[in-house]
Amino acid sequence: MVEKRSMPFQASTPFNAAQAERHLWLPYSQMHTAPAPMAVASAQGSLITLQDGRQLVDGVASWWTASHGSSHPHITKALAEQALAMPHIMMGGLVHTQAQRLAARLAALAPGDLNRVFLCDSGSVAMEAAVKMALQYHINRSDGDTQKRRHKVLFFEGAYHGDTMGMMALCDPTEGMHHLFSNMLQQQVMAPLPVDQASLERLEAILDNQGHDIAAMVVEPLVQGAGGMVFHHPEVLRHLRRLCDSHGVLLIADEVFTGFGRTGTFFACEQAAIVPDIMALSKALTGGAIGLGAALARDSVFEGFLGDDPEKALMHGPTFMGNPLACAAANASLDLFEDQPRLEQARAVGAAMAQQLERCRSLENVRDVRTLGAIGVVELNETWLARTSTDKLRQAFIAEGVWLRPFRNVIALTPAFTIGDEELRTLTNAVWNVLSGGAP
Ligand SMILES: *Cc1c(COP(=O)(O)O)cnc(C)c1O
Repeated sequence: MVEKRSMPFQASTPFNAAQAERHLWLPYSQMHTAPAPMAVASAQGSLITLQDGRQLVDGVASWWTASHGSSHPHITKALAEQALAMPHIMMGGLVHTQAQRLAARLAALAPGDLNRVFLCDSGSVAMEAAVKMALQYHINRSDGDTQKRRHKVLFFEGAYHGDTMGMMALCDPTEGMHHLFSNMLQQQVMAPLPVDQASLERLEAILDNQGHDIAAMVVEPLVQGAGGMVFHHPEVLRHLRRLCDSHGVLLIADEVFTGFGRTGTFFACEQAAIVPDIMALSKALTGGAIGLGAALARDSVFEGFLGDDPEKALMHGPTFMGNPLACAAANASLDLFEDQPRLEQARAVGAAMAQQLERCRSLENVRDVRTLGAIGVVELNETWLARTSTDKLRQAFIAEGVWLRPFRNVIALTPAFTIGDEELRTLTNAVWNVLSGGAP
């Protein structure tokens, strides 16, 4: 306590980095052994400038969010103007034009009649809201008959949907990051993604047996992101849509990662020409400037909450939902999609990565090279990876002047769609240099 009280908290006291290092707790990091995190002074476009003056090309786009590059002036200007007008106002009973505009624009961009937009503050919470919508939709329809209530959620092997308690139960328990907690979580139904005839039959059998109990099926369309950047064919999503329809299950598309052009179309679901019943958005929603999430529902889902009974209202409401700053940033990001050839840029970045990463395929330590939209993936041979570590690889990339954060057995390149040709070359050359140079 004495030490704490003597801590210099006054604004006038010089910042002491060594002292400050004792207080932050970083995500997914063994704080005892992880390399000290690097302090960032600024991030502009695809360049991260560190406090010590070094510059790194950003190959991650700030955890897949900064599609227009970091600190885009159109977005930061919108943030500044909104900050002066009104940084926040509660949404319980009040609204504001930034949220109204954003909801209307998202509804217009989303496939089919996904017309109702529930705003929240992150991807996990957007998914929590989506699942709660599905559960309560079935409760509302059951009209008190508990027999008719469906209380399970079906998710897929390899899935990742967030870190909250509810979402941990929908992440692959052995593959995912949450296996430690598996016996404390709500038991849900895990099924294989129907990528071939055998897995399709297994999924059909699960639905035949338990479909009457299942309120919703959750899927990351086209790409299982945090699960290792595993791609599947759009046909898989058409199977899911058909099976959900025949079993009365709501289909929830988790487009938290794939939304806003990352797979080459505005939403991944478009490539399968399907309309999910509920869609969750977050990551790139504000162009990476500030946290925001959204759950979009089809008209038929929304209508399931209407009636004279107050208990039928959606029982969800995060304090900072629909934050005006975040909505202003999201509107500004959508302006950029309207005014700039962003989707063409995303596809061009993907095509360039496919070409430039191709040579890595010949390396013994590489198991696969694949690209989809503006996602470039180099999958590593696990026996080789066991001789080094993702931390060591990350350090080697820093020495090459790039910011890449290998996870599981993949190096994923998810740069801004606006990355320059030179910067992209620096990134892909770094991957080649590190992987062809032997285990770091
Ligand atoms: C990142 C992610 C989430 C969780 O979003 P947070 O904002 O980190 O809570 C959920 N689903 C998918 C597919 C994601 O990639």
